[in-house]
Amino acid sequence: MGYCLYDAYGYISDLASNYGLELMSAYATRTTKEPQVKKFFKKGCVPITQELIAGLKAIHCPDKDIADTIYNLVNLLAKCDTVAIISDGTDVVSPELTIHRGTHEIGGSCVELCSNSGNTRLIIDLGLPLVNADMSPFDWGTHRKSTLPQLLTKKILPSVDGLYENDKPAITAVLLSHAHIDHYGLLRFVHSDIPLYMSVGTKSLAEVSNVFLNTNVKLDMVKTFEMWQPFQIGEFAVTPYLMDHSAPDAAAFLIEADGQRIFYTGDFRGHGRKGILLERLTKDPPHHINYLIMEGSMLGRDEGLYPDETSVEQALHDYILSQKGLSYIFTSSQNLDRLVSIYRAARHSGKTLVIDLYTAFVLDKLSVISPVIPQFDWKGVRVLYSYYHAQKLADLDKALLYKYKSAKIELEEICDAPNDKVLLAKDSRYFRGIITKLKDSSKAIAIFSMWHGYLERSNLGQFLESNGIPITEIHTSGHAYVNQLRSMVDALKPRWIIPIHTFHPEKFRDMFPNVIQLNDGETISLC
Ligand SMILES: [Zn+2]
Repeated sequence: MGYCLYDAYGYISDLASNYGLELMSAYATRTTKEPQVKKFFKKGCVPITQELIAGLKAIHCPDKDIADTIYNLVNLLAKCDTVAIISDGTDVVSPELTIHRGTHEIGGSCVELCSNSGNTRLIIDLGLPLVNADMSPFDWGTHRKSTLPQLLTKKILPSVDGLYENDKPAITAVLLSHAHIDHYGLLRFVHSDIPLYMSVGTKSLAEVSNVFLNTNVKLDMVKTFEMWQPFQIGEFAVTPYLMDHSAPDAAAFLIEADGQRIFYTGDFRGHGRKGILLERLTKDPPHHINYLIMEGSMLGRDEGLYPDETSVEQALHDYILSQKGLSYIFTSSQNLDRLVSIYRAARHSGKTLVIDLYTAFVLDKLSVISPVIPQFDWKGVRVLYSYYHAQKLADLDKALLYKYKSAKIELEEICDAPNDKVLLAKDSRYFRGIITKLKDSSKAIAIFSMWHGYLERSNLGQFLESNGIPITEIHTSGHAYVNQLRSMVDALKPRWIIPIHTFHPEKFRDMFPNVIQLNDGETISLC
């Protein structure tokens, strides 16, 4: 989409009533089901086609002013590759949307909504990219020492005026959907006067990541929200919806402003432990959604061997149970659904789950969102202390080291009885050291329980193989399958769908007739 047209002075309406209105009216009725777009020049959105432009060109008018208007209008419409938004001459009140990044990629999401008055500017998510411009994997490590202006020049930070520490603050707030690095990894650069809104679980994970992953989020500016409880950010009314995703306490947002209702899905799915949430949302959806900004990570991706988290837990259980040696499971310590599956699979196999201090801290922090999240002091859970993790935790609060001590396990204990242990592992120097050290004491196996792409990007597979450890993949995606995207659209019945968080925005058009495909940095009026 290139342009939005406002007929603020009624000039185009006059033109229409004198010349060609019938033609345009018939055209508009044919091309849209929107009842309010009964006439071409009535406020609404109309797909732009060559037929429409030809219709306008066919109007011959002796009045030079009107002829000029037709000429200008045709030129403007020719630049609108998808949609023009045309008013009937009344004053149009509309917020503006800019997707600074995420229209053509997974990761690095950054969305801006600006109220009609311009007094409220809201940023939703501010993530690290996952790919470079040439689609190679993005490596934050190579940019870590860059200054803020350098990061802006390199386009790692999206260009948003009034957002960052080096600018005069002009953003009302940053709203975070969930604690995945591709949604909040650049939060550290936000001006310290700008409030950050997030769920309680997201805040807990941000605290953990500050300690262990150097994410440096300024937590004193955090305001937490409750799911399904509306709150106000300037002129925007925001209602968060708890979503099923591989990050716990993830939110979608209904945002209302200037008579528009916008639903931002964030990342979601319907096949995790909280799959019921998608079911509930689609049974009792928010109504009258004008714009649905929806993720499409799975478009163009294989759905994988395991359809849901239940089948993952079963497969983990069966595989672990059949092993005579130590089982390594490689997963993210912040994927709560998976940690629960692993815990349950280990318990039902009669084996002890060994977690590291970082994971123990994650689970401890997340206990605020639910009392049924496995903890370090639950039966069948032990904690492995590494020097690095212990140091990080001690820097935060030494008492935590003593807190988890009752569950501490030494490497020798694993070495003595490896067959009844399941060890949660990471692809790190520390864990590679353990694997090398224990390789003769156990006929170990490894399970890779994360997105396949991470395995492709590393040499973990070769490393394990060289140590005689076979690797199996057991995983299900954190993102919505195509049928789940469809059920979201069927339920919310949005007027327009805007793709985000996808490498294939064009595939939305194969599925839905009412798609507005944007480019990064492009601003449209939502009316
Ligand atoms: Zn995510």
